[in-house]
Amino acid sequence: MSILIFGHKNPDTDSVISSLIMEEFCRQQGIDAVACMLGEVSLETKYILDYLNVDAPKYLDKVEAGQEVILVDHNEFGQSVEGIENATILRVVDHHRVANFNTAGPLDMRLMPVGCTATIMNMLFKENGLTIDKKIATMMISAICSDTLLFKSPTTTKVDEDIARGLAAEFDIDIENYAMEMLKAGTDLSSKTDQEVMSIDSKQFSVGDRLFEVAQVNTADINELTATRLAGLVEVMEAKIANDGLGMFLLMITDIVNSNSLLVPRGNQAEIEKFEQNFNTKLENGQVLLEGVVSRKKQIVPNLK
Ligand code: MN
Ligand code: MN
Repeated sequence: MSILIFGHKNPDTDSVISSLIMEEFCRQQGIDAVACMLGEVSLETKYILDYLNVDAPKYLDKVEAGQEVILVDHNEFGQSVEGIENATILRVVDHHRVANFNTAGPLDMRLMPVGCTATIMNMLFKENGLTIDKKIATMMISAICSDTLLFKSPTTTKVDEDIARGLAAEFDIDIENYAMEMLKAGTDLSSKTDQEVMSIDSKQFSVGDRLFEVAQVNTADINELTATRLAGLVEVMEAKIANDGLGMFLLMITDIVNSNSLLVPRGNQAEIEKFEQNFNTKLENGQVLLEGVVSRKKQIVPNLK
């Protein structure tokens, strides 16, 4: 039985692409391992796979006890595959906090506070004297530009940018052009219902006994998105607020071209006023544009209090 490699549920580009990079890392060392994924590929990831003419990893819904696995782009069991508690975790390569994770045996862990798992994979290739061809280089560039929003996100480190730009120079890839096309491919919402748009990237957070949800939707044109879809998206938010007992549901519409976000909070009046205080702002028509804000993890969640 091959070793199974996978990233987190609701897989983003880094989870899918770093799994494929890890498969190649294993292959070059004669290790039988196969990339999998715990959900469907996003349109952004599909753009990369089509560009490289690479098949998507196979879908995995659970693992048997004792199955040997390699985790990339996550470690928390809550974000992992069903049955992970009884799997044999051989290796983890990740750039997130460590929580809700333990193993029966020793393992190889490589955790670094960088902007992308693929950045760490690049280091592992070099440290092990392995070959990075143009396909793997393009994968690494894609994942890094996705996780860092083309180096605009405050989660970006110098290492991420140096590695991606170094690969782009070596393989003659126009990184600005390629990454913007890739990011834009992920913003095509035309085939998605309002419900689907709101669940592309939505996470709940609790502060004491107050529950919040923050959904992030990337776009290349905020005005076009709000004109055509905002009313429907707000309906989905209102229903979720009532259903889940949320104090506030915050929709973050992020402009990937200009690096700012339109914040649209809904919820009870006290929470909306608290939101205005916390972000030192005033809503107009129930929304506010914040310049330079693109990261939920670093710029939104820490201000929910
Ligand atoms: Mn991820
Ligand atoms: Mn990542």
